[in-house]
Amino acid sequence: MSSSSKVVLLPGDGIGPEIVAQAARILALFPHISTTTHLVGGAAIDATGSPFPDTTRDAVSSADAILLGAVGGPKWEAQAVRPEQGLLAMRKHLDLFANIRPVFFPAEKCRALSPLKPETLAGFDKSIVVRELVSGIYFGARTEANYSVSEVEAHDQMTYKQSEIARITHLAAHLALASSPPEPVTLVDKANVLATSRLWRKTVTDIMAQSYPQIPFSTCLVDAAAMHMIKDPKKLNGIVLTENLFGDILSDEASVIPGSLGLMPSASLAGLEKGKPGLYEPIHGSAPDIAGQGKANPIGTILSVAMMFRYSLNMPWEAELIEEAVRAAIDAGTVTADLGGSATTAAVGDLIVTLVEAAL
Ligand code: ATP
Ligand code: MG
Repeated sequence: MSSSSKVVLLPGDGIGPEIVAQAARILALFPHISTTTHLVGGAAIDATGSPFPDTTRDAVSSADAILLGAVGGPKWEAQAVRPEQGLLAMRKHLDLFANIRPVFFPAEKCRALSPLKPETLAGFDKSIVVRELVSGIYFGARTEANYSVSEVEAHDQMTYKQSEIARITHLAAHLALASSPPEPVTLVDKANVLATSRLWRKTVTDIMAQSYPQIPFSTCLVDAAAMHMIKDPKKLNGIVLTENLFGDILSDEASVIPGSLGLMPSASLAGLEKGKPGLYEPIHGSAPDIAGQGKANPIGTILSVAMMFRYSLNMPWEAELIEEAVRAAIDAGTVTADLGGSATTAAVGDLIVTLVEAAL
């Protein structure tokens, strides 16, 4: 266990405060972790006019890790300043270049919730999508369409630098090496068409061969990967490394596998070194339709704390305790409505906190 650690809580909007409250109870079991709570998103716009206020910027900059609930909601949809801008500004400020989304079943029971058939899921264990988050087509120059000319056109530019590809490749390889034997790494690209993909293919292939010969490595075209994800997901067991646009689409596609949005965690990292705070959050949004009703599933947020323990706080054993407690709560049937149960957000939190505390 590391020395003292500073975690910033950003509950945000909608169900964010309810689910972060449960995850915060887990953090509170560890006396060496101190937490402070700050505003982001719509809640921050209401209080300060900005979705990423200076006080929040200062707090996250000096944190060891950040736990976010969710931002956004109908209340702010028509406004000039949007809650989501706060999240983008924070990603950029902290240079969170790697978005990590594991897709797995927190308990065997959850396989029955998946829209994929058992025979399709056979052999599928866990896929971790590692998506480049701060470059590529979403950050390239663009020209909007001019509809007053005869041939209307628009363009978006996709650019990747070798250094941007190399840093996320090393991060993906380190994640692969955290398992023994190492997880296989699959690079997903479109190297038969795109120049950026050919740079990815060459850069990643060279690094894997030179620095990580012990990691099984393969490549897959993005169209084939999209099909494997729902037809034969075991082909994507292990680490799926990809650029920003492909990763956005593939990680959303992959998120249907577990059956509920409420289950899955994520991390956004600026590297695996200490001193660079990581941002941890469930993959779902602010779910305004169920906010304030005690119905939200806190498991995606609680599993995000497990990822935080593993990647930012050097507490891998404690991360496993959390995952084990989540498994036991699901097996006991103490789950929210999205998983077919009738437990409240707080009741799920109660059981998981009790189980983690008992195991410490
Ligand atoms: P965003 O644009 O922020 O991603 P969204 O509208 O796409 O938001 P969510 O806010 O994630 O999606 O909600 C989609 C559906 O899933 C909603 O019906 C919501 O109630 C449900 N949902 C999302 N998160 C949870 C959760 N933690 N527990 C239970 N249901 C959830
Ligand atoms: Mg959405």
